Amino acid sequence: MIETFHDYINGEWVPAASGRTTANINPADTRDVIGYYAASGPEDARRAAEAAEAALPGWRALAGPQRAKYLEQAASLMESRLEEIARTLTREEGKTLMESRGETARGVALLRYYAGECWRACGEVIPASSPRALMFTRREPLGVVAAITPWNFPVAIPLWKIAPALAFGNTVVFKPAALTPAVAVKIAEVFEAAGLPKGVFNLLTGSGGEVGQALVGHPAVKGVSFTGSNAVGQKIGAWAVQQGIKFQLEMGGKNPVIVAADADLDQAVDLTVSGAMRSAGQKCTATSRAIVVEPALDEFIDRVVRRVQNLPVGPGTDEAAYLGPLASEPQMRSVLDYIQSGADEGAEMLCGGVRLQGGLYDRGFYVQPTVFAGVSPRMKIAREEIFGPVLAVLPAADLDEAIHIANGVPYGLSASLFTRDLGAALQYIARIEAGMVRVNGETAGVELQAPFGGMKSSSSHSREQGRAAIEFFTEIKTISLEPAGDGK
Ligand code: NAP
Ligand code: MG
Repeated sequence: MIETFHDYINGEWVPAASGRTTANINPADTRDVIGYYAASGPEDARRAAEAAEAALPGWRALAGPQRAKYLEQAASLMESRLEEIARTLTREEGKTLMESRGETARGVALLRYYAGECWRACGEVIPASSPRALMFTRREPLGVVAAITPWNFPVAIPLWKIAPALAFGNTVVFKPAALTPAVAVKIAEVFEAAGLPKGVFNLLTGSGGEVGQALVGHPAVKGVSFTGSNAVGQKIGAWAVQQGIKFQLEMGGKNPVIVAADADLDQAVDLTVSGAMRSAGQKCTATSRAIVVEPALDEFIDRVVRRVQNLPVGPGTDEAAYLGPLASEPQMRSVLDYIQSGADEGAEMLCGGVRLQGGLYDRGFYVQPTVFAGVSPRMKIAREEIFGPVLAVLPAADLDEAIHIANGVPYGLSASLFTRDLGAALQYIARIEAGMVRVNGETAGVELQAPFGGMKSSSSHSREQGRAAIEFFTEIKTISLEPAGDGK
């Protein structure tokens, strides 16, 4: 018997107003239906926004340390369900269990970190022109905040929005990706069990196309934090501008590694392969381009291809798998189209390039890890986000040209340089157009205690996580307090 799951609105589990549901399918084995999830529509968005609005006065009136207790409780509850949540994540999204466990543990850490933020100072005293005045700032919540998130990190990304939103006194409506409602329901169960007052946190599953505009456009919603594609992000930004509300968009990437002639090639090969192929390349910070300075080129390509050819691909539950399937059939089709475009534009395909077939592969969306060499910066595979296990290798004459190529795309999320030369590293740090800059590290990976976000079209130029989250999830009031009369 396959279970049906509801939205969580105003502290209750309720079916979508339309009564409709959609099936959630395991991308590693499409015979496995995880459950039927509420297909929410505009009416549900309205109810959720109103529930969050009604809960706001009580929630924002709590002292920070009082709100901290709920987040601490949620962290403990989530930790106690870590294995179950990680298994659900792998089952609905496809990444390996090791990655799902790591991501769920990060979710727990995010809840703890923002429980801590509830205790910290959030304002400052500023010297006023008049010696009689006390001038200071107060950080106030925005109000009701919508969190709209993608499927590729369905635990960590929602929590790095929801936890700070709640910590700073906002109430939340959460719209997860349609592909990953199961872990979203578990996140809601955790907040419910932590005893959050009704309406403080609400969950709407279903399609963004159905609920997105009704949610962002609802007059109670005062902020929207979005992570996903540029196409959808642009729409959300435009609606937010129309409504005059605050918005934050984290979007695509085309992340390069630069391999200098003096790089430690063991390290460069290892971290390029894991950056490109872990999670089947479906990370916003995945390595998509390797820009290699000529003397290192042949050996780098040779070693990368030898590694990539031997990467085990299989269901995420198989402990031996390095990468799992792509998250959905459309995602797989889109990746295969990019691979075709690389071949059509004359790049040299050195390994992979096809959908894996036979046996268990026929039941899921598996693509062979793929490496292209001889890629020129004009090719589509060198410019557009692929979001799959595909690496494009581009030659460069020297570091200067490599940085120029790296910067020659509209995106600017993450980048890495492999070198032993401190001068080269400093030059690259100053010139690279990326929000997340690494030297001798992997492009992928995020530290929850540090600001995260992209430059150029990768982001709306705000930052998430760490202490930076306060900038989005609060608004500043500047207060000047003076004695009545002449103050004597
Ligand atoms: P997406 O299609 O843009 O979807 C993101 C979210 O927006 C989903 O919840 C989606 O709902 C919703 N949505 C879709 N259409 C909408 C609309 N008209 N109004 C309101 N919401 C709408 O992105 P995705 O395919 O899930 O994720 C992949 C993308 O995310 C990639 O571009 C990747 O680079 C980016 N990403 C960026 C970061 C970062 O931090 N920079 C991190 C991870 C991923 P549905 O699922 O129902 O369509
Ligand atoms: Mg699914």
